[in-house]
Amino acid sequence: MYNRVTDAIISELSQIVGAENTLVRPDAMEPYTHDHVTGLRADPEVVVKVRSAAEVAEIFRLAQREKISVTPRGAGYGLSGGAVPVMGGIVLSLERMTRILEIDRENLMVTVEPGVITGDLHRAVEALGLFYPPDPASLDSCTIGGNIAEGAGGPRAVKYGVTADYVCGLEAVLPSGQTISCGGKLVKNVTGYNLAQLLTGSEGTLAIVTKIILRLVPLPKHRIDLFVPYADFESAARTVSAIIAQGIVPTAMEFMEQDSLMAVERLLGRELPFRTAAAFLLFQLDGNHPEALQAEFETVGDLCLQHQAQDVLVAKDTTTRDRLWESRRKIIDALTNESPINHMEDVVVPRSQIPALLKGIHQIAANRQVRIISFGHAGDGNVHVNVLKDDLPTGDWERLVPQVAESIYRLTLSLGGMITGEHGIGVTRRPYLILALGEAQVDVMRRIKSAFDPNNILNPGKIFP
Ligand SMILES: Cc1cc2nc3c(=O)[nH]c(=O)nc-3n(C[C@H](O)[C@H](O)[C@H](O)COP(=O)(O)OP(=O)(O)OC[C@H]3O[C@@H](n4cnc5c(N)ncnc54)[C@H](O)[C@@H]3O)c2cc1C
Repeated sequence: MYNRVTDAIISELSQIVGAENTLVRPDAMEPYTHDHVTGLRADPEVVVKVRSAAEVAEIFRLAQREKISVTPRGAGYGLSGGAVPVMGGIVLSLERMTRILEIDRENLMVTVEPGVITGDLHRAVEALGLFYPPDPASLDSCTIGGNIAEGAGGPRAVKYGVTADYVCGLEAVLPSGQTISCGGKLVKNVTGYNLAQLLTGSEGTLAIVTKIILRLVPLPKHRIDLFVPYADFESAARTVSAIIAQGIVPTAMEFMEQDSLMAVERLLGRELPFRTAAAFLLFQLDGNHPEALQAEFETVGDLCLQHQAQDVLVAKDTTTRDRLWESRRKIIDALTNESPINHMEDVVVPRSQIPALLKGIHQIAANRQVRIISFGHAGDGNVHVNVLKDDLPTGDWERLVPQVAESIYRLTLSLGGMITGEHGIGVTRRPYLILALGEAQVDVMRRIKSAFDPNNILNPGKIFP
């Protein structure tokens, strides 16, 4: 279906990006064969590390002429296989495009290249008293380009929203080799279809993003974090609903089941507080006025205790709160440490349905006799469900995973949810897209894909069943 990358093509690619940025040796290309989905690998035929939109355009023209597939890649921290070159061909890495081009304080906008690491962007704007809130747990490794492509979220979505809520403008190179600029440093703009938002969350299947304009907000001056243990998850869930009903929107409300924190304890080799509790909530509150923040914090603390919290641990200093959030951010690593082969789902339901979702997931685990550990964003309904292989024989595991995944999806959809909240469809969820959306929606999406990429050379084998 696609042509092979020949020596002549490799030599043309080296002329575009330089020989030192053209990788062909298998050991050099190994890091580009996978992302963070366990067990999914595919070999690229060549990897090119671009430095500009002009180079991307030239590579697209070459790929069109030769009918070769192109897979864009940020840092390879994705959790749905989006950057894995399942059809071989060219992996086009944006890792060298790491410049923060401008922080515009007057317009509260930042312009960046796609390879900027998300945490570096946070630090750069925070040094000027500004704030870019989206905070995927992978923020010290993943790129802004990958965040745009995946529509990434994070704990602060409860109060501040997700990546898409900050995208004001994009420069992107179309598979035809044309470069487009959509949007700009504009707070309002309804000039034609909003292509910047269409590209956001398109998983690198419509165009390659080469420049990004993001909205900033002022950095809140004060912050408090709370860690709250419960004897059962239902009480924790009732607390979340009571806080929202009270008109308080915390910055973040994360939940963890006991098993996930035990796994973190084993990974970090240190004991965490309240280790006998069945469930935990981790809150973050922020604001500019200490008295107002204190009042909110006291209300939240009271509501926790009224809903049978075992205690409320307040982390006002940086060390305590960094340790708490480190525990939350390390859960995925800790679960991989428990069982190197595992399967992660990323379902999302209306926040009030989380208890029903968790009850159903516990039932699925019992019926299938498999260990499932869940954690996630109690404040926005996005639950990460980890199925662990442990010592199950490989054949049993391979039969089990699709059955468990489908049961989890059917349960989620029956609760008014969707099959992925922030990790995307990629390769792993392709078979279930029609189950989630129905034929008519998927058909419109296919036609959008073909309007951007009629020859299907950009990131083939993703999203569509
Ligand atoms: C430990 C861990 C924690 C995580 N926590 C979160 C979390 O809290 N929230 C969350 O949302 N995600 C999370 N993720 C998932 C992941 O970090 C995000 O999906 C992130 O956005 C991926 O960025 P990346 O640079 O690694 O992209 P990659 O994995 O390299 O690529 C992801 C997709 O984007 C495309 N792409 C990359 N750059 C471009 C570009 N410039 N133009 C067009 N397409 C492009 C690729 O083709 C691919 O389809 C986590 C992952 C891990 C491993």
